[in-house]
Amino acid sequence: CGIVGVLGNHEVSPIIVEALRRLEYRGYDSAGIATVADDGGLDRRRAVGKLVNLSDVLVHDPLPGHAGIGHTRWATHGGVTEPNAHPHRAGRVSVVHNGIIENFATLRSELEARGRVFESQTDTEIVAALVDLLMDEGKSPAEAVEAMLPRIEGAYSLLFLFEGEKDLMIAARKNSPLAIGHGDGEMYVGSDAIALAPLTDKITYLEEGDWAIITREGATIYDANGKLANRKVKEIRMDA
Ligand code: GLU
Repeated sequence: CGIVGVLGNHEVSPIIVEALRRLEYRGYDSAGIATVADDGGLDRRRAVGKLVNLSDVLVHDPLPGHAGIGHTRWATHGGVTEPNAHPHRAGRVSVVHNGIIENFATLRSELEARGRVFESQTDTEIVAALVDLLMDEGKSPAEAVEAMLPRIEGAYSLLFLFEGEKDLMIAARKNSPLAIGHGDGEMYVGSDAIALAPLTDKITYLEEGDWAIITREGATIYDANGKLANRKVKEIRMDA
């Protein structure tokens, strides 16, 4: 339902919780965050219910890191449980997702036949599994996401984080909005620019079918045909 991502110069968990709070008005049933710590370790915290429950988890079990993604979930596939809360993870790949992957059941059976084990009932987990599988075959994170996208059908905004990659997020959108925010040596992603209002007023909206490689240097955006896309940075005014 709500997506936030930060490549920051400070601890990102509190920043992400705050940004998710700005998306609360959309409604949600659970929330979670994943970060890449300074040693490259990928980890996550999730909680069913309000964001305050996630905050409580983080107080007792902090999640360090300067790179992270967060999600507020509105369950469509799989009940409201912690294992179904995002971020989902497979191997080195963590992902948050808004929308629905229509062909997830077919893809899931295919991967289960190849020995993959799934830990949630969501349509989302298949996305992480596919990207991880493609990375096992030797692809880089960006190559793996690019190769995965044509295989999924439906409506999605997706945001990925990778183990060992402290300066990388990959975003993709189809029939679901996603905005990239430009900071001062920091980069942000939000399903709604309002989530990023206190962080930056410089926003690039991804267009239909776009996917983007994001580092602290900036965003490289490709269109649905794999061509480099020149999307404008807009200065937007929001009441923060
Ligand atoms: N289809 C996904 C799920 O049920 C994402 C739902 C959402 O947009 O929050 O977990």
